[in-house]
Amino acid sequence: MILDRALVRVLPAVPRPVVQLFSSRYIAGSTLEDAVRVVRRLNGEGMAATIDVLGEEVTRADEARGIARAYRDVFDEIERQRLDSNVSVKLTALGLNLSYELCKENLVDVVGQGRFVRIDMEDSTTTDATLGLYRELREAGHDNVGVVLQAYLRRTLHDVRMLADLKPNVRLCKGIYVEPPSLAYTDPAAVRTSFVQCLDALLESGAHVAAATHDEALIQEALRRDVREFQMLLGVREERARELVAEGHKVRIYVPFGEQWYAYSLRRLQENPAMATTIARASIARAFRF
Ligand SMILES: Cc1cc2nc3c(=O)[nH]c(=O)nc-3n(C[C@H](O)[C@H](O)[C@H](O)COP(=O)(O)OP(=O)(O)OC[C@H]3O[C@@H](n4cnc5c(N)ncnc54)[C@H](O)[C@@H]3O)c2cc1C
Repeated sequence: MILDRALVRVLPAVPRPVVQLFSSRYIAGSTLEDAVRVVRRLNGEGMAATIDVLGEEVTRADEARGIARAYRDVFDEIERQRLDSNVSVKLTALGLNLSYELCKENLVDVVGQGRFVRIDMEDSTTTDATLGLYRELREAGHDNVGVVLQAYLRRTLHDVRMLADLKPNVRLCKGIYVEPPSLAYTDPAAVRTSFVQCLDALLESGAHVAAATHDEALIQEALRRDVREFQMLLGVREERARELVAEGHKVRIYVPFGEQWYAYSLRRLQENPAMATTIARASIARAFRF
């Protein structure tokens, strides 16, 4: 949950090396080998993974095709090393902002590899296209694809109902992008209430649901229900993830890797309660060279 909107505005002014330093815990590294090493460790601790090739909002078609190709390499490595992992993709990385058709082509290429593919949900300008593409793929017979719903959006309960006929595979999260109050709940309590309502509606509709949250109140709500999978982000509440595994629950960790670490890092830093002050201090120190 966004803790401080002022922080969101200030973060882009933070020097990149400072961002990189503080966000390294959230990212496996810059190469596929780095991701494989992290997934191996997680698998060894009883957790599954979802590997994300970092990148978003690409501006050239060849870049988007490059990301689709990078996923082929990820699948090859998952297969070769027998990793317990699927993948997550961002549609703007596959060219959504360039053209719906280009994005669909790239998505079909990735999904056509046969392993489970989770389509991440980005900001609200992409929600309709994302749900539209998800439906198109499912109706074309691709069952190895899942989607993400964001509890902070006011529309999400309606989206749950609209997706029900597909018996969708859904990752439910709070949502991280900065959205206007007309579209999204901003009060943390309202976001939590919506999360629980969406969770119930999804379970009632027969969806396969993964609860993606580090919020203890919501983890408890999910534990009270028949939620089959918990998902967390690399570098966040790993101890809690291990406890859930020890209690017999399925846990999947989101493992991003790649050179395009900046935007993802900013989103993680804005959510880290301890980081707001630290980053501010480090930036001031750097600016004045003390
Ligand atoms: C597996 C997974 C996939 C996701 N996919 C998407 C997606 O596709 N689209 C989207 O919009 N959002 C996505 N998110 C992000 C999500 O929407 C939230 O922004 C994020 O999970 C923080 O919300 P929270 O439920 O953990 O609650 P919060 O209230 O933010 O966090 C609860 C507690 O967790 C700890 N914590 C949380 N974040 C951090 C951090 N960065 N560093 C240190 N401690 C932290 C803190 O102790 C905090 O008090 C995903 C989250 C997960 C776990």
